[in-house]
Amino acid sequence: MPITKPHVVILASPGLGLLIPILELGRRLAQLNLQVTVFAAATDSSDRISQQIDSQDTDLVEVVVLPPVEISGLVPPNAILPAKILAIMHESLPLLRSAFSAMTTCPKALIVDVFGIDALAIANEFEMLKYVFVASNARLFSISVYAAEVDREVLEEHVNQQQPLKIPGCSPLRFEDTLEPLKDPNGPAFHGFVGLAMAAATSDGVLINTWEDLEPTTLRALRDSKLLGGTFKAPIYPIGPVSRPTGSSISENRILKWLDDQPTESVIYVSFGSGGTLSAKQTIELAWGLELSQQRFIWVIRPPSESDASGLFFSSGKKSSSFQDYLPEGFLTRTQKVGLVVPMWAPQSEILEHSSVGGFLSHCGWNSVVESITNEVAIIGWPLYAEQKMNATMLTEEMGVAVKSKELACQSIVGREEIERMVRKVLVDKESHGLKKKVKELKFSGEKALSNGGSSYDSLSKVAGRVSGRNE
Ligand code: UDP
Repeated sequence: MPITKPHVVILASPGLGLLIPILELGRRLAQLNLQVTVFAAATDSSDRISQQIDSQDTDLVEVVVLPPVEISGLVPPNAILPAKILAIMHESLPLLRSAFSAMTTCPKALIVDVFGIDALAIANEFEMLKYVFVASNARLFSISVYAAEVDREVLEEHVNQQQPLKIPGCSPLRFEDTLEPLKDPNGPAFHGFVGLAMAAATSDGVLINTWEDLEPTTLRALRDSKLLGGTFKAPIYPIGPVSRPTGSSISENRILKWLDDQPTESVIYVSFGSGGTLSAKQTIELAWGLELSQQRFIWVIRPPSESDASGLFFSSGKKSSSFQDYLPEGFLTRTQKVGLVVPMWAPQSEILEHSSVGGFLSHCGWNSVVESITNEVAIIGWPLYAEQKMNATMLTEEMGVAVKSKELACQSIVGREEIERMVRKVLVDKESHGLKKKVKELKFSGEKALSNGGSSYDSLSKVAGRVSGRNE
């Protein structure tokens, strides 16, 4: 008789920044003897979704891409990114319900990401275990927990009078690093953000892409009954680092071949995540900064956008027009011996793993941060949207693995000399030694957490054990 494994379903919201770690989470759960299905909500970046599914070793995981949802008409065009994702997820719920109804045996557990919390009600209907996966860090989750319990006046003081938000047991959140949803307490994104903590509180646990040694203070606060753990009682499972394993299948890639010919730790990799964009003026300054630094570089370039730094979040798979048009005249010729400009998308994990890469100019999306740390690469923090400002501050001031420009906070454009200075700081100046030492320590602590018997390994095993009914 065939042995049927306990079945767990993971619901992934749109955006490769969610799908990539979810596929890896699914793979790890499958290795712990569970049957795993990922339902991926889609928009028009479906091409990129298919490529991602193909490139990740997902043989162990069944992936079902839900029919794409057309975003226009659901929310106003100027809605902030979290509001757009929440609206898409809302539309996807009936599809999930029908899928469960059609199954002969109902899955044992549902895992949703931070935008999929409405689907937890469906888990209740089908009497499933329910978990929340925070693909970002514990700090982001701690802010949601605090925002859900604190008086409105405290949040208003933070937003209107620009006072730091004092989260019990954690570093305060400065106004300049604050999150978009907090700025509009009547908006859908705010309700989604506090709803995250409220829904998670009634779940069977919160899985976070972090590890004990990376965020010890915040994790302690979330569990301490005198701090955030006083109101938030659900188990917290730090299971990171969760990042896409690098694939040997793309070793023929021309970028990796180019890297093979460069000296050790000599290249800065520049990328703003799956959909980040810069203005036209900023693109020009960045080009000049890279050229003036006289360092080697790989730059994943996107068409400029003047109004929305997350402009290509839903369409990063689309082909771009000629990128020469938005670079300074002669830039490509002058830098051809030291630089590679790659339109739209590059194999980031493989690039960061390459020994020729010495630094990462990053928008500080959490996957990029985790991939950088696990590959021992120091960071230049250039946050654009979502929780990236807060991440950049944490990396610079608490973890000591990044540098960040002051100009980002007070000027609309970061100038070429400042960019030149930051690139040199991470690749060649004395300061680079301290950054590299720190990032190496964090890399090792992440490896330890994932090893057999390590804290993250144990956390995920506990979840898998509960789903399998082993530790009931
Ligand atoms: N990514 C990639 N190639 C690119 C840009 C992004 O492989 O050219 C991957 C990157 O490795 C990461 C994810 O896309 O896993 C982006 O996630 P992150 O959290 O850094 O940022 P987001 O796109 O969600 O803002």
